[in-house]
Amino acid sequence: MSDRGLLTVISGFSGCGKGTVVGKLVDSYGYSLSISATTRNPRDGDVEGVHYFFITKEEFKDRIEKNGFLEWAEYVGNYYGTPKDYVETMLAQGKNVILEIEMQGGLKVKEQCPEAVLVFMVPPSAKELKSRLVNRGTEDMDTINRRIARASEEIDYINDYDYIVVNDDIGRCAGEIHNIITCEGKKVINNGELTERIKQDFKNI
Ligand code: 5GP
Repeated sequence: MSDRGLLTVISGFSGCGKGTVVGKLVDSYGYSLSISATTRNPRDGDVEGVHYFFITKEEFKDRIEKNGFLEWAEYVGNYYGTPKDYVETMLAQGKNVILEIEMQGGLKVKEQCPEAVLVFMVPPSAKELKSRLVNRGTEDMDTINRRIARASEEIDYINDYDYIVVNDDIGRCAGEIHNIITCEGKKVINNGELTERIKQDFKNI
């Protein structure tokens, strides 16, 4: 068990199935998911406090001024931010926390928390991504095209991430991410208390 929980960022192109994989990590493996605040309008099926906290631009700016976000970013015309308090509290309790956020935000998290693990999820191909977005039917073609354009910009920053996973099967992809996080949790640097206890134990025998 690590002293503090591990912070994992999962990013990936809009429509690559991040939400479903993250849901599996929460339900099957017990990770704590941070719920972001956003200024975008709720989509059909979006639930306040479950998928996002939907707030106005004024409220968002106020939270920025009060230093209430661990990170925030603008994405295709809307603001998205990670509430700082929730993440801090969970990590202090030893819980492993997942942030499902875009890349700009992921890189800001890494600056502040160098021990955070950055995972980038990709669809099997660009063509597959476009057809998933179209079939989802939640955005108009203009928004879909802007999201695809943003995806092709983001791919340039992929080298700053620690891991890349392909989402061609939800269960397999969630299992791979869980394995990555489990290994990170075994690093000596993440196990100060255990390491110290064992050292003392062997000195005192
Ligand atoms: P969507 O509108 O499809 O729910 O989200 C758009 C993008 O914003 C996705 O890539 C999602 O991961 C990202 N996102 C969601 N919450 C946050 C957040 O708190 N911070 C940042 N930087 N990105 C976020």
